[in-house]
Amino acid sequence: MTTHDLVALLQGKRIAILTGAGCSTESGIPDYRGPQARPRKPIQHRDFVESEATRRRYWARSAVGWPRMAGARPNAAHRAIAELEARGLASGLITQNVDRLHHKAGSREVLELHGALADVRCLDCGALESRDALQTRIAALNPDLGAANVTIAPDGDADLPLELVENFRVPACLACGGVLKPDVVFFGGSVPRERVMAAFAKLDAADVLLVVGSSLAVFSGYRFVLRAAEMKMPIAIVNRGETRGDPHAALRVDGAAGEVLPALARALC
Ligand code: NAD
Ligand code: ZN
Repeated sequence: MTTHDLVALLQGKRIAILTGAGCSTESGIPDYRGPQARPRKPIQHRDFVESEATRRRYWARSAVGWPRMAGARPNAAHRAIAELEARGLASGLITQNVDRLHHKAGSREVLELHGALADVRCLDCGALESRDALQTRIAALNPDLGAANVTIAPDGDADLPLELVENFRVPACLACGGVLKPDVVFFGGSVPRERVMAAFAKLDAADVLLVVGSSLAVFSGYRFVLRAAEMKMPIAIVNRGETRGDPHAALRVDGAAGEVLPALARALC
C-alpha cells in the first residue's frame, strides 16, 4: 500500500500513534529486529536486580554509550509526529522507545511505556536522578573510561574491554547509598499497571491506531494492536519489513518512517 492509501484512511480521524525502535534508527539508534540489527542478548530485569556483576557491566558499558544516546537528534519521523499533535490530529502518542526523541522533536504529550534512559531511579528509596547528573558522577569515579572506542547498542549498552568493566566503580544513590537502575523497563520487567491503563485510555479515545517502526514482537506494544482489533478500530502500520500486527492491519506501508511520516503530515496538516 502507498502513503496515499494511508492518508485516505487517516483523514479526519483521531489518531493514536504507537512508535517503536524503527522510528529512531534514522537518528542513529539501532533497533533489535530490523535488517541491520546485530544479534545480541539484551539486559534482563532479574539479572540486573540480583547480580552486582551485571550491574557493573551495565553501568560501565552504558557510561560509554550514554553520550551518543544523549546526543542523538530527532529525525523527520519524530518531527512529523510532533506536527500531527500540534495540529490536533493525534489524540495520543505511546512510545516503546526510551530515547526521549519525541520530546526533543517537540511532542508535548508522550506516554513513555518503557520509561526513559534519561532518568535513573534508586531501587531502595525510589529517589530520581537525571542520567546527565549521574554521568558526571560516573566520570569523576572512573577517569579512565573517557577515551574508550566502542559501539553502542539499542538499550544504551555498549561493548567494552573486560578490564575496563572489572575496574569500573559503580555509583550509588546519593540519598541512601542504594542500588541505581535506569528508569526503564528491561526485558522480563513489567510496565506499571497505571501506565498501561493510561495508554489504553489514549487508544480508546482514538478512531484509528497508527503503528510506526515496531516489529510488535514485544507483547508490551502488541497489546495495543490486540485491543484496537478487539474494538474493531482500524490499524495502520508503517514499518520496514513484517510485524506481528500485520494480520490485524487494515493497511501496511513498507517504508522508512522518516519518509512516510513527513509525507503523511504534509497531506493531513
Ligand atoms: P524492534 O527492534 O523489535 O522492531 C523495529 C522495527 O522497525 C523492525 O521491524 C525494523 O525493520 C523496523 N525499522 C527499522 N528502521 C526503520 C525505519 N527507518 N522506518 C520504518 N521501520 C523501520 O523494536 P520494538 O518493536 O520497538 O521493540 C524493541 C524494544 O526494545 C522496545 O520495547 C523498546 O523499549 C526497546 N528499544 C528502544 C530503542 C529506543 O529507545 N530507540 C531502541 C531499541 C530497542
Ligand atoms: Zn536511594
